[in-house]
Amino acid sequence: MSSSYHQLLDATIQHLEDLKARGVRHVPVAPETLRALAQPVKSQISNLKAEVLKTVAFGPATKPAAKSEIGNRESEISAPAAEQETLLTLPGETVSSQAPPLDPQAKAAAFAALRERALACVKCPHLASSRKTVVFGVGSIDAQLMFVGEAPGADEDEQGEPFVGKAGQLLTKIIQAMGLQRADVYIGNILKCRPDTPGQSAGNRKPTTDEMATCIPYLHEQIDLIRPKVLVALGATAVEGLLGKTIGITKLRGTWKTYRGIPLMPTYHPAYLLRNQAMSEKRKVWEDMLAVMEKLGMSISEKQRNFFLRG
Ligand code: URA
Repeated sequence: MSSSYHQLLDATIQHLEDLKARGVRHVPVAPETLRALAQPVKSQISNLKAEVLKTVAFGPATKPAAKSEIGNRESEISAPAAEQETLLTLPGETVSSQAPPLDPQAKAAAFAALRERALACVKCPHLASSRKTVVFGVGSIDAQLMFVGEAPGADEDEQGEPFVGKAGQLLTKIIQAMGLQRADVYIGNILKCRPDTPGQSAGNRKPTTDEMATCIPYLHEQIDLIRPKVLVALGATAVEGLLGKTIGITKLRGTWKTYRGIPLMPTYHPAYLLRNQAMSEKRKVWEDMLAVMEKLGMSISEKQRNFFLRG
């Protein structure tokens, strides 16, 4: 795959995500370009096209469409057949940001500005009116390790911080067992608002596909600014939000994926471990964390290696 192809695609996706995050809902795209992008999925190249389409999917231009930059360069979005086997393997796996890293001050300022935008977000009016807080994320913006969960629950909505309820306390223990503190890592969610549960006084619900697609540009910007060395997706919904829902978490966990150019480890959500107390399930998550520690070049003691092994 030519690097100019990747660069073009990456730049296009990034540009569209930035526009979308800023509330832009229409971009002029030539009808023939939209038709070409919407062609049946024949190969994995279509995943990349679909990523562009998903980002562009604000609908056709309302005015007569001038040929956009995407339209003008459409031929470059078709990769030669011989190159297709090297393409990404799951929908949602996207190429990394090619932008050069920001200096620390600019990075902190960009992160603060992003946070401000997210805190004021009303893109999902039903969630904006039901939430108590926007749960943006917590931890170090220079973290090498970033955990991504599903969405805030009641405790997180109350406190404005991800993973502070029972599942969060277990996540904190996992982080500590790795020899780290919460402040050393970054913790975020696919959705920044608690999914509403109209007519119910308690309980949670899974975010909808639309809600996840609306919110995910914030997470992309967080990832692109933090540039962690490793991402961990916590649970099936986080994996679905990041990678698409083609394969279940039971099959995916423990296998390295790539997200925005960063190694991604899918594992079980801590809430699952609270429901299923079997040592074997704890060990699976722990083995995933050992793989993460190895990837990060962290030293691992014999004691750590043996956590959750019987006998
Ligand atoms: N579960 C999640 O996925 N995220 C949170 O922040 C809390 C619970």
